[in-house]
Amino acid sequence: MKKVYLRTFGCQMNEYDSERLLALLSGEYVPCQAPEEADLILINTCSVRRKAEEKVYSMAGRFKHLKARRPEIIIGICGCVAQQEGERLLKRFPHLDLVLGPQNIYRIREILEEIERTRRPQVRVEMESGFRPPVVVPSLDGKRPIKAQVTIMQGCDNFCSYCVVPYVRGREISRPPEDILREIECLVRQGVREVTLLGQNVNSYGKKEKGFPSFAELLRMVAEIPDLWRIRFTTSHPRDLSEDLMRAFAEVKKLCEHLHLPVQSGSNRILRRMNRGYTREEYLEKIRRLREICPEIALTTDIIVGFPGETEEDFAETLFLLEEVRYDEIFSFKYSDRPYARAREFPEKVPEEVKAERLSRVHTLQARITEEINRSYIGREVEVLVEGPSETRPELWTGRTRTNHVVNFSAPPGLDLKGALVYVFIKDTGKHSLRGEYRRTIQGP
Ligand code: SF4
Repeated sequence: MKKVYLRTFGCQMNEYDSERLLALLSGEYVPCQAPEEADLILINTCSVRRKAEEKVYSMAGRFKHLKARRPEIIIGICGCVAQQEGERLLKRFPHLDLVLGPQNIYRIREILEEIERTRRPQVRVEMESGFRPPVVVPSLDGKRPIKAQVTIMQGCDNFCSYCVVPYVRGREISRPPEDILREIECLVRQGVREVTLLGQNVNSYGKKEKGFPSFAELLRMVAEIPDLWRIRFTTSHPRDLSEDLMRAFAEVKKLCEHLHLPVQSGSNRILRRMNRGYTREEYLEKIRRLREICPEIALTTDIIVGFPGETEEDFAETLFLLEEVRYDEIFSFKYSDRPYARAREFPEKVPEEVKAERLSRVHTLQARITEEINRSYIGREVEVLVEGPSETRPELWTGRTRTNHVVNFSAPPGLDLKGALVYVFIKDTGKHSLRGEYRRTIQGP
């Protein structure tokens, strides 16, 4: 059997595509951990942030020596950077054999055959409108998987002014509900108990397709699948967060009480320039309503600091918003110009040192809020889906609460809790996790 080394950068959508790539290659290739051992090297890339793109280039450059030593290996770049750069990648890295856009990963086998037959590099970045990805279920044998991700839609129509996604992933298209349900059912048969529905903007699922359910309706359909215990989803656009979807958090028992709702900025002026399609007030009103419907919901968000033209006053609005909402966790980034995105043409770029300083203030503020929220769990009993022994402290078990907090906990020896749903009593907190003690099993693995 040949060996494939696959390195993934970026978001959950990319992880999902990487799992599909491995599934499509199985039977001919087995994954390996070292590029030196591989017959096929694939870098699945992300171009949403400049830093990730730069890492991809540096990694692709490093493989040049490997190719010189073993010309028979096939080296490819897949994903968003491949889509964005196309042929240019071959000019920059003449040792590459393959440039593969996200829609084309499903043709990997036939394209590899073509490369082996002709020994000529291939660039496949065509995008088809109305593209329907086939149902590909990763082979999970022997791994006792607990969680899995399922893409429910591809692309995005929103054109936020800082974002490259609509250009590299294409326009928004939803997968048919029957494909999604079939894929989840296959995963559940293999032991998956928690599924995360993925898309760039999941809550606009089905809006463009005639006869498709709404996202809230799809959630209810997924919840009907027997032996599936938990459902999550990401990412949502605040503008498309409907009352029906908010009510699903209270009504669909399998839907975990966690919502990632990217706000990006607390300043209306900046939100307008970002083309986000909502105001600070509208966003906060949705949060208020959501908490009214589902008081225990945990919230996370994305923040961009240093967007072109962001003044100290705009930035202060973001800090006030963080104080007001009190997210459980945030993902914050310094703004960087991205190819095609409109904001790269905006003047008034914020200097790097100002961005770095603002990012550090965001981190300091959020660290305090996260710690306060984590401490509020002490003394409570929480439901945890156990993923397995902790990687850093194997004497402890690890899993997540419904609110998506990581819990490390002790349990009596001899119990095999992997894949079980248990109650854990929280006794302490770490920087990014809760610590506790096993109480009882709700449902066995
Ligand atoms: S909603 Fe905006 S930020 Fe998100 S993928 Fe679409 S364009 Fe990018």
